[in-house]
Amino acid sequence: MNAWTSPATEPDLLDQEAVFSPLRVVRDTSAMDLDAAEDAAAQFLKALGVSTDSESLRGTPGRMARAYAELFSPRSFDLTTFPNDEGYDELVLARSIPLRSVCEHHLLPFVGTAHVGYLPGARILGLSKLARVVEHFACRPQVQERLTKQVADWLQENLDPKGVGVVIDAEHTCMTLRGVQATGTRTLTSTLLGILRTDARTRAEFLACTGVTGKA
Ligand SMILES: [Zn+2]
Repeated sequence: MNAWTSPATEPDLLDQEAVFSPLRVVRDTSAMDLDAAEDAAAQFLKALGVSTDSESLRGTPGRMARAYAELFSPRSFDLTTFPNDEGYDELVLARSIPLRSVCEHHLLPFVGTAHVGYLPGARILGLSKLARVVEHFACRPQVQERLTKQVADWLQENLDPKGVGVVIDAEHTCMTLRGVQATGTRTLTSTLLGILRTDARTRAEFLACTGVTGKA
C-alpha cells in the first residue's frame, strides 16, 4: 500500500478553486494471506483429482494464489480534479477502457471494455482517472451490473458532475467456456445518472458515442 502523498498546498497563495487536493483511492488488501491461499489451492486441486506431483504443477497452487491476489489488488491512485475554468459543458467520454474482472459466482474472469463519460460541473478530471476508477471496482469478485453502477455512483459522488454514464460490454468465461458454452455472447450493462439519464438528447449522444444505440 502506498503512503499518502500529501500535496504541497499553501492556501494563502492559491485561491480556493485552484487548491490541489487529490483524493487518495486505496483498496485495503491487508486481509490477504498468500500462504493460506496457496495451501487452500493445493487442497482444492487435490480434491478435484489434479495431482501437483510433477515438476510442472508443483508450483501451481502458489501461482494460483498469486494470480488471484493480483486480480483482487487494484493499483492505488489519486483522484486529481481541476477547476473547469473554461466552463466546458459537453460530454467527456473515455471509450473502450480495457476491463478485466472476476465473476463472483464462479471466480472465472470476465473481460471486455468500459465506456465512461460525464458532463462536467465545476470540476474536471484527468482522463486516465476514469480508467483507474474502473480498475478500482473491477479488481474484486464482481457482478457486471454492480460494477457498472459502482463506477457511476462513485464518480457522481466524488466529482459531482451534471451527469455520468457508464456502459460495460464484456464476455463472461463462466458462460462462454462452461455451462451453456455460448461462445461469443457479450453482456451489456449501463448506468446513466443526472442529465445523461433525464435528457433524451444527451443520453442519445452518449449512447451513440459508445456505439450502443437503441437502448433507452
Ligand atoms: Zn459466473
